[in-house]
Amino acid sequence: MNDYRNFLSEILIDEETLQQRVIELGEEISRDYRGKEGLLLVCILRGGITFMVDLMRRIDVPHMMDCMAISSYGAGNFESTGNVRVTYDLQTNIADKNVLIVEDIVDSGRTISHVLEMLQTRRPASLKICALLDKAERREADVPIDYRGFVIPDKYVFGYGLDLDEHYRNLPFVAVVDLEKYKP
Ligand code: 5GP
Repeated sequence: MNDYRNFLSEILIDEETLQQRVIELGEEISRDYRGKEGLLLVCILRGGITFMVDLMRRIDVPHMMDCMAISSYGAGNFESTGNVRVTYDLQTNIADKNVLIVEDIVDSGRTISHVLEMLQTRRPASLKICALLDKAERREADVPIDYRGFVIPDKYVFGYGLDLDEHYRNLPFVAVVDLEKYKP
């Protein structure tokens, strides 16, 4: 694989800024869920993993966690169609739980809106969304984001869980790819 510096356009959110925001989100979530029973964090694989792992360590109220994987089919490399299929389902019964979905990025909003619709049928006590990144100007589906890390411009990003052809998820910052220079 190519060294990411060959196609890095800019570092959009550096490590320190990311970690500071994760602390703030953890505090906010802890405050809102204090005294409530059955908080379940649901990580959307695979992009949400890095954020989830950092965030859960900043949440100081009792909670459980589970994961689900979604695949968006019929999509091009840099687009999602919102034709969503669950490829790995939750192992937890979410009925009467306070469910908080932890997602890396909301772009058109189609993916998360489908997940919301599906999880709602399982009758959770509450269902909210925590998204690290919000490409607000690209929104097509009306999705309520309850906890938002950063609003970002319409640029394709990678790092901190977000991939380019399944690579570079390990980078501790969020960077913009220069698509002219990127060759998978
Ligand atoms: P949506 O359904 O909201 O259009 O797309 C959401 C999914 O598309 C995200 O969970 C993510 O997998 C992918 N995605 C959207 N924008 C980006 C981006 O800038 N970089 C990466 N790596 N994935 C993205």
